[in-house]
Amino acid sequence: MASKRPKVDFSPEAILREIRKGKELFNSINSLKSNLSVKKVSELLRLRCKENDIDAASLLSLMFGFDMVSWVMATIQHVPRVFSRRKNSCAKIIFEIANKLCQEKHLSLPVVDEMVKYIEEFVPELNVLETQQTRFEDALSSLNGKDGVNYGGFIAPPVEDCMLRGTVLTSPNALSSCTLYTVNGPKPCTNLSLRCQGCKVSYGRSMTHYSSGNASYYPKEIIRKDNLVEVTNVVYMEKKLYRWIPSLINHCFVSFEDFSISYNEVYCEEIKNNFKSACDALEAGKKSSQNQIAGFSNDFINVDVLMDDGTPDVDVPMICDSADDIISGINIAS
Ligand SMILES: [Zn+2]
Repeated sequence: MASKRPKVDFSPEAILREIRKGKELFNSINSLKSNLSVKKVSELLRLRCKENDIDAASLLSLMFGFDMVSWVMATIQHVPRVFSRRKNSCAKIIFEIANKLCQEKHLSLPVVDEMVKYIEEFVPELNVLETQQTRFEDALSSLNGKDGVNYGGFIAPPVEDCMLRGTVLTSPNALSSCTLYTVNGPKPCTNLSLRCQGCKVSYGRSMTHYSSGNASYYPKEIIRKDNLVEVTNVVYMEKKLYRWIPSLINHCFVSFEDFSISYNEVYCEEIKNNFKSACDALEAGKKSSQNQIAGFSNDFINVDVLMDDGTPDVDVPMICDSADDIISGINIAS
């Protein structure tokens, strides 16, 4: 039996009534917005300081826009308050940065100063740059592996449609795990590959693979925009990190085996946090768990070696043969 749906009135009167309601709501929001001022809202908040039912940051966003408020908040965290000891240079520095970030708003120093004082008084705990970033990263770490998905990063082909026929690409293969090496340590990521059912071409992050067995890189204009380098289909590297490799080869005579040890030493905390279950298993001596380690390739991990603090000595794939291919095949955008 078909389920009963609530009846919707499509008569012209009903439609006009809905439009009118929407207009009234919009007008009342605009009128509230034009009546708000930092001074008035501050007084109101001071009167109701013991009640938590007013979101001070939202009111400020209604007056100045969310974008501008978040930039000012980020700027406040960037400039230590103690700079105000030097001829009140704190306010001037904050104004210069906020003004640069929100040029279209034509800000003045008194307006920015008013916002800064409001934020410091009513939303001092809202730390956009650090707390939010850390909370975000912590949430991603804790979700890693849930339903077979790694949340550290999502790696997808740079195109949605077939480059030969323009047809919509499909995703016949399950999502796979991979590791992305970044300038902030390695991250477990999820990889999506696409395929054209018509020409049987597979689309990866950096290359297209043909049914003949041949493969090719994407056109230069696509590669230049990409911020990653594909080392293998389970190992990726940020270009920011990759840039170090040719430079170190040219100037520093680096052993890349030792460089990978340094990388793992510097980012041992990140490795512990991002690959927690894998590290726990290794510490407990369960070597057989290596196959369950999302994104860690046996080619790049030496499970027999543990560092002094118990973290696995993971070889960063900078010493693999394909590094030469990357150097010659990819034109790093400068
Ligand atoms: Zn195609």
